[in-house]
Amino acid sequence: MNCDYHSERESVGVCFSCGKPVCSECKVVLQEKVYCNPCVNKLLLYKTEAGPTRATAVSLQDAPAVIEKEIMRWNWGAFFLTWIWAIGNKLWVWLIIGLAAYAIAFVPSPNNKAIWVSIICQGVISVFLGVKGSEWAWKSKKWDSIGHFKRTQRKWRNWGIVFTAVGFIIGVIIGSTSRPSF
Ligand SMILES: [Zn+2]
Ligand SMILES: [Zn+2]
Repeated sequence: MNCDYHSERESVGVCFSCGKPVCSECKVVLQEKVYCNPCVNKLLLYKTEAGPTRATAVSLQDAPAVIEKEIMRWNWGAFFLTWIWAIGNKLWVWLIIGLAAYAIAFVPSPNNKAIWVSIICQGVISVFLGVKGSEWAWKSKKWDSIGHFKRTQRKWRNWGIVFTAVGFIIGVIIGSTSRPSF
């Protein structure tokens, strides 16, 4: 494999952020992890919203913390797909918790109370996974790079949106066709 920035040079490692191969000249090592120059620059420029004068507000020392922040974002895929997402991310405990919350709905109860309890439990699980999902998924699986992780989680988000939208439409259709007839 050759360096992504120098096609004639042999690579000595792979950038932990974007996954591109880098040569010894392009390689930057931060806390025992290899990065490419553009990614390090991006990390250092991360906090530039305050203005161009603060372009170097993040030091090389702080870069790993910035990367961590980049990973620990709200996870829409986990929020929408909960236990399905948990299977894909090898979080088996959440598969069981998610299915248990779903199963509550089938417990016989007066006035469909169990269904409401189930819906509330599922809502709590969704929010919980939205907040903590990224962190857990990052730790539970071996990811090639931050880029790989983000691309995968973005796919989950897109499927989550499709899944929820289709579910909503089906719900509306069933709701409108099963009106009680007099
Ligand atoms: Zn990179
Ligand atoms: Zn290079």
